[in-house]
Amino acid sequence: MINSSLKELAIALALKKVSSVELTQLFLDRIAKLNGELNAFITVDAERSLAQARSADARISAGNAGPLTGIPVAHKDIFCAQGWLTTCGSKMLSNFVAPYDAHVIGRFNDAGSVILGKTNMDEFAMGSSNETSFYGPVKNPWNTGRVPGGSSGGSAAAVAARMAPVATATDTGGSIRQPAALTGLTGLKPTYGVVSRYGMIAFASSLDQGGILARSAEDAALMLNVMSGFDARDSTSIDRVTEDYGRELEVPGGVAPNLPLTGVRVGVVKEHFGAGLAPDVARAVQSALDELRRLGATLVDVSTPNARLGVAAYYVIAPAEASSNLSRFDGVRYGHRAKSYSNLAEMYSKSRAEGFGAEVKRRILIGTYVLSHGYYDAYYVKAQKIRRLIANDFAAAFKDCDIVVGPTSPTVAFELGAKASDPVQMYLNDVYTIPANLAGLPGMSIPCGLGEHGLPVGLHMVGNYFAEAKMLAIAHHYQCATDWHLRSPEGMSA
Ligand code: GLN
Repeated sequence: MINSSLKELAIALALKKVSSVELTQLFLDRIAKLNGELNAFITVDAERSLAQARSADARISAGNAGPLTGIPVAHKDIFCAQGWLTTCGSKMLSNFVAPYDAHVIGRFNDAGSVILGKTNMDEFAMGSSNETSFYGPVKNPWNTGRVPGGSSGGSAAAVAARMAPVATATDTGGSIRQPAALTGLTGLKPTYGVVSRYGMIAFASSLDQGGILARSAEDAALMLNVMSGFDARDSTSIDRVTEDYGRELEVPGGVAPNLPLTGVRVGVVKEHFGAGLAPDVARAVQSALDELRRLGATLVDVSTPNARLGVAAYYVIAPAEASSNLSRFDGVRYGHRAKSYSNLAEMYSKSRAEGFGAEVKRRILIGTYVLSHGYYDAYYVKAQKIRRLIANDFAAAFKDCDIVVGPTSPTVAFELGAKASDPVQMYLNDVYTIPANLAGLPGMSIPCGLGEHGLPVGLHMVGNYFAEAKMLAIAHHYQCATDWHLRSPEGMSA
């Protein structure tokens, strides 16, 4: 059961082969067994989860179940869930019980899914290794001496270790796709505006987007059907017709064509295969390209020359927005407040000094600096111009191809602590993923091989705006022809 797809779980629930209570208990038992070692969950509340499972069972019996009714879903601890501790991986929010549901959580509740728990993450989603969490690092189930990637490392480890069938996550510069790559999962960051940010604790609002960590494109499509949709409470939520993101996954007549990717033009970004890319990752990605060609796709060379400026532009824009967003944590309304202080200014500064970790403070300092008078034009405005150039590069590339592909991460999962003291090395992990956030485009990572030490490698795909259904279909056909997405870390599949 722990290796079943969401569709298989839904069928088992509908046929009463298993109840939601039993399914939830099964995953709670997995969490009890493995979380001590992996540290993927910050909060588990079995009673609450089982209560939700009981109402899901009633709903299934009453005959009005949807595709995800009764299915346990782990949620990144960045999403406010009413009555649940919601920490965002920070001491600042270590006492914050959310008084309301994020849009995403509300959608899953309406769908009748079960909240399985809240997953560990880098503090305020700032990081690429899950080592900045106040709750300690998450371990990669493939090798517990290595990082699972970040910032959605808890969600990734939970799904990879079969502690949850599926999880929500968020991606500001790569935080869904990079951990997906490092833990052998399918990760999807939708087009900016497709998933409401309401109740999703803000890091860099013009880049943040909620998405999915799953074991297959098929599961990711079912999740996106629940999460997406217009929400008036997020001013950048996009009002468009409801889509079935799995519609292109169905094969007419149920028989898969020999060359399902015929007519699909896959753009290979040449700049992504240069210096900095580890040879084992390059090899796995290259064989994935061969497989796409074998499935009927046409490979074309494309160039995104300004993407190399992405990391630099991102580390101006994201901290600038973070410095503004995080000003709300002042010890007054909610969150951590210093115990002793002699005046208001000291209360603010001590609360913030105690509540935020080093990486968050670094971002606030950088952000405040680049927005300050005299530096604003030199850094912030310049970075915004680069952002436009990067979006233009993609627009030009999409004249020649339907999706662009390359590696997700330059290396396989690295050792815990290996980059923790060198922020620039850490930032470079997202060199391939950041451009999609800057342009607002949808991105995915799918498992495409094993590299050094038998660790997973991810294939990165970026599609045009709202091309999620197409990307999911391409990923699905690749997954029908290969079995990389079915591999699980040793000892974790039973
Ligand atoms: N690693 C990047 C950062 O630290 C991206 C994080 C994210 O996508 N939330 O900012």
